[in-house]
Amino acid sequence: MTGHPAALATTRSDQLHQRAIHLMPGGVNSPVRALRSIGRDPIFIARGGGAEIEDVDGNTYLDWMCSWGPLIAGHAHPAVIEAVRDAATRGTSYGAGTEAEVAIAQEIVDRVPSAEMVRMVNSGTEATMSAIRLARAWTGREKLLKFAGAYHGHVDGLLADAGSGLATAGIPASPGVPEAQAAATVIVPWNDREAVTRALAEHAREGAGEIAAVLVEPYPANMGLVPPAEGFLAFLREAADASGALLVFDEVISGFRVARGGAQEREGVLPDLTVLGKVIGGGLPAAAYAGRADLMGRVAPAGDVYQAGTLSGNPLATAAGLATLELLDAGAYIHLDQIAGQMAEGLRLVAEQAGVPVHVSSTTGLLTLFFHAGPVTSYAEARECDTEAFGAFARAMLERGVYLPPSQFEAWFVSLAHDEQHVERTLAAAAESLGEVAR
Ligand SMILES: *Cc1c(COP(=O)(O)O)cnc(C)c1O
Repeated sequence: MTGHPAALATTRSDQLHQRAIHLMPGGVNSPVRALRSIGRDPIFIARGGGAEIEDVDGNTYLDWMCSWGPLIAGHAHPAVIEAVRDAATRGTSYGAGTEAEVAIAQEIVDRVPSAEMVRMVNSGTEATMSAIRLARAWTGREKLLKFAGAYHGHVDGLLADAGSGLATAGIPASPGVPEAQAAATVIVPWNDREAVTRALAEHAREGAGEIAAVLVEPYPANMGLVPPAEGFLAFLREAADASGALLVFDEVISGFRVARGGAQEREGVLPDLTVLGKVIGGGLPAAAYAGRADLMGRVAPAGDVYQAGTLSGNPLATAAGLATLELLDAGAYIHLDQIAGQMAEGLRLVAEQAGVPVHVSSTTGLLTLFFHAGPVTSYAEARECDTEAFGAFARAMLERGVYLPPSQFEAWFVSLAHDEQHVERTLAAAAESLGEVAR
């Protein structure tokens, strides 16, 4: 090909980015995809299979992002694709009940210890929004308590001090949120018992609490993975009970990932309501909220709390979710635990060898490499990380064919498709990349 030098330098991703930037805000449909925080332009993906994705220029990457959590079975898992294909041939949506919806509700109730009834929705945001409405109706209270650095979707009242894309962009709150919504949200530091006790006591009138729900990511993963301190979740259960607030676990990431029944099963602490998403849709749009039968009985049409959805429980997402859950047996969790553990241990070692101070946190199916010298137990500590170093590291990894979640404030997602060879490849790339960062 005899081309103009400038044309040769232009990749298909660059060309798509140039078009997209005029058609979509920032050229993307969700902020972190723009890769701004690591100083890159967005990469456009053409296909995925197993643990790998390929961009429109034919570059392949080992993928530790896995669509930010849903793809616990990896890309295009044959069983998931077959289930979706099979469902699609029978129609994509009916706006009426199906057998598969009953099956997925049963599966959720069987797995998640606190779930007695389920309502399917289409996104984690919608699920949190709906769970909050139910908590407010049940308690007759309006205020919410959330933790700094936690992300619960882009619900108006929950965007303050939120993790995920807001943490990545350094946005403390979003314009466009009504003041009353922001004022109804009380924010406390993660893992800080005294702050929780104080907030619950302060937000009370004539002895009666004003907090409708204590909203918790039991294994927070949107400021990077910052596990709960020993006993903290049990403490929250007691504190919520004492103040008459509902305890709501947002298990959109941890659900079906850190254990068969999520963080609540692992930690033995049961919330009143649970918010589920990501894995439950197996890569298609599905989410849910679930909880005690008396609470869920308040949801319309059984009860008076209104919530509806044209595509809720749609056949394709339900099929993908069911097929994914079917793959998540005891052996699957052993695998997710081993791969995350090997990655975490390996990353600590290569970082030490490169002389780069890091803190690596991990649990079953999740890990985060923090560019931070000491432990990370709160959002304040996560924010002390060297995000420049993270950006340089993530760029260096991309050049070596490893696609990490492009933000310091996210977790790496392990899938069933990741194996020990992928771990070795990643660690070899990390050793070189950390060497570059250290220079
Ligand atoms: C991703 C996420 C959400 C939002 O889910 P969407 O499907 O993106 O709306 C809510 N809570 C947590 C903990 C999440 O990680």
